[in-house]
Amino acid sequence: MGSIAGKWKERAAEATRAGLDLVFPRHCVGCGGPVEDEVYAFMCAPCRAGLYYIDGAYCRACGYPYLGMSTADRVCPNCRELRPVFERGRALVLHRGLGGRLIIELKYHRGLFLRDDLARLIRRFADLDVYIGDAVLVPVPLHPRKERERGFNQSGFLAGLFAEAGEGAVVEDALVRTRDTDSQTRLRREERAGNVKNAFAIAPGYAIRGEKNYIVVDDVYTTGSTLNACARALLDGGAGAVRVLALAHG
Ligand SMILES: [Zn+2]
Ligand SMILES: [Zn+2]
Repeated sequence: MGSIAGKWKERAAEATRAGLDLVFPRHCVGCGGPVEDEVYAFMCAPCRAGLYYIDGAYCRACGYPYLGMSTADRVCPNCRELRPVFERGRALVLHRGLGGRLIIELKYHRGLFLRDDLARLIRRFADLDVYIGDAVLVPVPLHPRKERERGFNQSGFLAGLFAEAGEGAVVEDALVRTRDTDSQTRLRREERAGNVKNAFAIAPGYAIRGEKNYIVVDDVYTTGSTLNACARALLDGGAGAVRVLALAHG
């Protein structure tokens, strides 16, 4: 597109956006109030101030922050129970307050409008470029029936955003969900692990590259059992190294 036409198009888009802001003021996904700063479009400053950013000391295995726990233990109590087969885990924020609302918007309301805000949030974490590097990012797959109903896989959407934070990272749908597991939310910890065991397999026709780093991406890390089951499927399929990455940690 020529630069003049491009400029006009940009201006038209700006005018439209300003007009829409007047007609439909942007609301914060955290509290429903207006968003008045120009940095984030859908997260107001007070809600952002309440976000818990996981960038201090955290469990090396799953990424859960050490909230006053002894940092002598390298692995948190949750991981001692889970026995993760993945090498490392990382999450950006705690799943509470605005952190929880972001997940709901992504999961149930197709939070595509959050794209720019989430990209900005991800850029805030300076260590992510190294953590992600040139890995193959694998979204936790939905069952095909659920994906048809929902029309959107939030983990795939996030994997695309995370790939931009890496250096040469790619998103590949390396896994499929072979069983339509019931929603995990009502299950207890032990039930969750049994529920997702053997629920994932390497996608038909997909060839694992043993020399690559694989990172399984989910919207939220709850007990870790889903991510662990995905990691196990990748390792069984020949992956040499598997890590996990989630937007929020439960
Ligand atoms: Zn708010
Ligand atoms: Zn842990």
